[in-house]
Amino acid sequence: MILTTLSSSSKGNIHVLDNGITTIILDCGIKYGRLVKELNSLTISGVLITHEHKDHCAGCTDLALNKKTPFYGTEETLEKINIPTFLKYEIEPLKQFKIVSFNVIAFKVNHDAAHPVNYLIHDELSGAQLLYITDTGSIDNLEFKDIDYILIECNFDEKWFDKDELTTTETIKKKRLFGPNGHLSVQQTIEFLKRTVNHNTKKIILCHISHSFEEYKVFEYMVKKELNFENVVALNPKYIGPIINELREEKEVLPFE
Ligand SMILES: [Zn+2]
Ligand SMILES: [Zn+2]
Repeated sequence: MILTTLSSSSKGNIHVLDNGITTIILDCGIKYGRLVKELNSLTISGVLITHEHKDHCAGCTDLALNKKTPFYGTEETLEKINIPTFLKYEIEPLKQFKIVSFNVIAFKVNHDAAHPVNYLIHDELSGAQLLYITDTGSIDNLEFKDIDYILIECNFDEKWFDKDELTTTETIKKKRLFGPNGHLSVQQTIEFLKRTVNHNTKKIILCHISHSFEEYKVFEYMVKKELNFENVVALNPKYIGPIINELREEKEVLPFE
């Protein structure tokens, strides 16, 4: 399974997942002009949309119109995105669906959008599971077992707002971020990882780090230390490139006798 990030920050979120047979996109938050350059001639079997905010959907309409790519999301989310009806695949939380060789299940999250969901993706070829969690104010109710790769939002540090006087902008920001429908702080992400990471976990990738925050390495260090787990990568908001690069092991196929 190869996971490549094309953008990960409050300015745009898009990741490309490929298992050698099928390529899908997780969110589509960059403009189409840049997207086609990055994708080259790749054929995309589907786009999983978490919610309708621009940093997750900026390239949707043009991708649909130019490449006729199918879009998967909840009815309410797809309604907000301007794409032709024949390319809309409405999904429901906790009902599994398939995009060629990926099995996908969506689950509800808490965010200030119409009907946001996140995704658990199972690669039929390697058997690996990737969990994609982003743009949610809380994840206390979510439990997962035996996840190989966790791509999870780590938006801000609660300590940034821990001071006597906040500017008006900071007060507004704090209200949203600390509310139930905002974003995950590094503290919330660590709590979730503590009850989710087990011997099966191969890699943790921290995404959607606030664009104003350049010291993403601090989050990486905090998670590594708290979890006592080495394979943690925090995505630099400016990074473009592979983040998981493990094609399935070729199994020896014995000829029939
Ligand atoms: Zn959002
Ligand atoms: Zn976002």
